[in-house]
Formats: sequence, structure tokens, C-alpha cells
Amino acid sequence: MVEDHRLMNVAGILENDIVDCDEGMCVSLWVSGCCHKCFNCHNPELWNYDYGKKLYRKEVGDRLIEAIRANGMLRNLSILGGEPLDPANIANVMHVINRIRNVFGNKIKIYLWTGYTIEYLKKEASYMTGGENFSNCVAKILRTIDVLIDGPYIDELRDTSLKLRGSSNQRVLLKKHQYGTRKRQMKID
Ligand code: SF4
Repeated sequence: MVEDHRLMNVAGILENDIVDCDEGMCVSLWVSGCCHKCFNCHNPELWNYDYGKKLYRKEVGDRLIEAIRANGMLRNLSILGGEPLDPANIANVMHVINRIRNVFGNKIKIYLWTGYTIEYLKKEASYMTGGENFSNCVAKILRTIDVLIDGPYIDELRDTSLKLRGSSNQRVLLKKHQYGTRKRQMKID
């Protein structure tokens, strides 16, 4: 039987996370399945696409929306893994991100971690996955999120002093909102 492509590989949702963002509090969505298999990865159990639960992206979105605005305060959203942009995950991740942005506008920041580099993602060939075109998903996600942390974890470059990163090859790519508009700048720190 063909699996419904709207089912997401969800390792877990952390509702009040102060570690995986650089300001305030965030809700963290951990996606299962990773093709990179970095040496000494901190979450090797998340390489398995079946780790955790299969949840419909609608339910994932509902749970995230509720958690982001719980108790009358807004939280940011962080999406980690595993590999959120793995071909098995990217279409559902894009739908969830779009929904969150539509609900909260620019009032919250969306962070996403990937083991791919942004250069690889932009060059990756077009093909269909999860009912969507891979490169269209990449383009939509990059337009919608605020912060991309890219690159594989490289154990020889491990540095515990780095903000949001495990190794120094990884980069924090920021899109800064210009107040009141959708115009954004990209900068690498
Ligand atoms: S990309 Fe992340 S989850 Fe995947 S193997 Fe590397 S460190 Fe682990």
C-alpha cells in the first residue's frame, strides 16, 4: 500500500525550548530521518525515518500553533532533525512552515537546521517528492524562514562555544525582516 505523503516523520515536539533559538523561547519540531550520517552525530536515533510517530501535517501544524501561542505569549519555531530537508521530509516541512507563517506573519522567527549546504540545495536538480517539486520546496522554504543553519556536523571542527551550531563549518544564515514589509536582507555571521 502506498503511504499517504501528508504523513510526517515526527521524532518529537518540544513546547518550551530555550536552547534551539537565539532569542526568547521557541517550540521545536524534531523531524526523523537523515541521509547525512555525520560521524559522532548527537542524534543518531533520528537517522531512522520510522523513529517517533507518523503524524498528518495538519495535526503537526495544529499542535505547533497551539504551542507557539500557549498562555498568551508568542514563541519562535525551530525545525531540527534528523534532516528536515531530506526528500522524504521536505514537502511536509514546507507545508507546515507556510501554515505557521500565514497564521503568525512576521511576529515570530522560524529557524531551520539542515545538514545540506545552501549551495547544494540551490543546485539540487528538480524532481518530484512527496507530491511536490524538490527545488520549488527549497525556494519556498528559503523565502519563508528567518534563519537557516546549514552544513553537516564535522566532528574535527566541533566547537561548543558556537551559537546554534555544533561545528565551525556550519553557518547561521539570517534573513532580517524590515519592519512592516516582507523585504529582507541576507547576511552570514
Ligand atoms: S545532519 Fe544532523 S542529524 Fe543528520 S547525521 Fe548530521 S548531525 Fe546528525
